[in-house]
Amino acid sequence: MKNKTQVQNKEIILSGQAVSPGIAIGKVYLFRTLKINIHELQAEVEDPKLEWGLFNKAVKKVVKQLDSAKAASQKQYGDEFSEIFESQKAFLDDITLLEEIQQEIELSASSAPFAVSKILSEKTNHFINMENTYFRERAYDIMDLKQKLLYSLLGIDFNYNLSGPSIVVADLLSPSDTVQFNRNFILGFLTDQGGKTSHAAIMARGLQIPAVVNGYTLSKLIAPESTIILDGFVGTIIINPSAETIDRYRALQEEHEHFNRELQKEVALPSVTKDGRQISLMANIEFAHEINDVKKNKAEGVGLFRTESVFIEKKELPTEEEQFEIYKQAAEQIAPYPLTIRTIDLGGDKFLENYSAEDEQNPFLGWRAIRFCLDEPDIFKEQLRAILRASMFGNIHILLPMISSVDEVTQTKEYLEEVRRELTKKGIAFKGVIPLGIMIETPAAAMLAGILADYVDFFSIGTNDLTQYVLAIDRTNDRVSKSYNTFNPAVLSFIAKTIEAGRLSGKPVTLCGEYATVSEAVPLLLGMGLRVFSMNPHLIAKVKKIIRIFDIKSCETLYEEVKEMHTAREIEQHCQRFFKSNVPDLKFLS
Ligand code: PEP
Ligand code: MG
Repeated sequence: MKNKTQVQNKEIILSGQAVSPGIAIGKVYLFRTLKINIHELQAEVEDPKLEWGLFNKAVKKVVKQLDSAKAASQKQYGDEFSEIFESQKAFLDDITLLEEIQQEIELSASSAPFAVSKILSEKTNHFINMENTYFRERAYDIMDLKQKLLYSLLGIDFNYNLSGPSIVVADLLSPSDTVQFNRNFILGFLTDQGGKTSHAAIMARGLQIPAVVNGYTLSKLIAPESTIILDGFVGTIIINPSAETIDRYRALQEEHEHFNRELQKEVALPSVTKDGRQISLMANIEFAHEINDVKKNKAEGVGLFRTESVFIEKKELPTEEEQFEIYKQAAEQIAPYPLTIRTIDLGGDKFLENYSAEDEQNPFLGWRAIRFCLDEPDIFKEQLRAILRASMFGNIHILLPMISSVDEVTQTKEYLEEVRRELTKKGIAFKGVIPLGIMIETPAAAMLAGILADYVDFFSIGTNDLTQYVLAIDRTNDRVSKSYNTFNPAVLSFIAKTIEAGRLSGKPVTLCGEYATVSEAVPLLLGMGLRVFSMNPHLIAKVKKIIRIFDIKSCETLYEEVKEMHTAREIEQHCQRFFKSNVPDLKFLS
């Protein structure tokens, strides 16, 4: 026993995945959900009608729970997370899903819990096998619904009462679990499962709560009430930390809090380089509700609204009216700044239910983005109509994804003309001038940028795809990810070519890929002549701080030096050295 206590109290250091930055030190609150195995459930019943009735009752109860979770969330956090609960409710409203469950109950005489477990597990597996992490992690939302329905059917309840400041440790946290805890008591989250884009992680980042995913089964091993430390910067988990370790992390925590307070001051400062050059910082969003963050972080508008979520969240095609409302509200809220709506970028790794590219050998080289839209004019024109109508309510720009030829732009313009004629005929108002831009994310577009400039009003460089297509490295394939590096001189030369084409033609150039937020890349991009960056709104303060440290002249010299270099490694290291020599306190910026 003595030995056991000693082992229990020994400091244990483990590493996990950091999903929300910050340091948390405190007592563990173990939030145990109950794993219900399908094999433990009664499979067959005599009265399927009764089961169908029970199922419908459970759905009603879960809808109520989601409504109260939404209300709890609104009370603590405002509207920030409301859409998450709405989208979970929409799932419970999905006719196809309900029919599948009804069939399972009625045709196979399955019990309601068995049918729920079977059908929702199949759905979870469908999502979990997707390449795209965003969709893979939506599987957690479905798992959560399955649990909620099963708890309701089996009469199980949970306790969200934290008695004091705690680090919540769980197998997996759902959005509704996350918001039921009292925000004032949550120090951090440690979960076995999840990832950077799971909703709990997104919420944690939004609320600036440190979070780590451990990737194994720590929630089963950690003793309740034990003390732990989470390092949400690098993913370190320390169980039973010594007094010395606690002191060290407390110091780091204070340093970080101080840094954050200082960083928040950047939000109010002008976005100018040390030598006074104006740099525009815009935001990337996937959901309209993120406009709140865009405004909080004082972005100069939305440089990229990825509209796929509007289509995929609904599970069926959204109507023109639904789209119009979303675009209109977002445009109104951000006006007079621009709302750059990217037309749907489906295909590749994001599919609509009935438009999957399962039979394609290379979906990233296949029926994706503008190619899909030009072949599906009904879907495309419906979106264009909604965008045009919404243009009356703000400063909307249209952005076309994955362009690789002039023809794609001219064909789109023809569709736009058709839509304009239809709206005019019906007497529906829209703005006469709506800037039309293209993503530069294929080598072809970058090579043709000088020519394409005659056809469009602006460029937006998508480095996530540009890197993939220039280097011929699937951006979702872990096996080859070590060579996926935007510092590769080949990729940089395509970026430079685009910026130059923009400069010569007088067309604005934005960069909206993740590269815009890589600290060491920011000075290089400034040196290349980039003046508009678009990014996750929470990273604006960081990038602004970096921009304010550097002057254009030294960034241009950096770029001149980089031009002479031959490898990604050499360039990246050179940029890191340059960054280090200008930024004395690197700890939280790099
Ligand atoms: C990009 O490719 O860099 C980009 C911003 O678009 P997405 O990540 O949506 O493909
Ligand atoms: Mg892209």
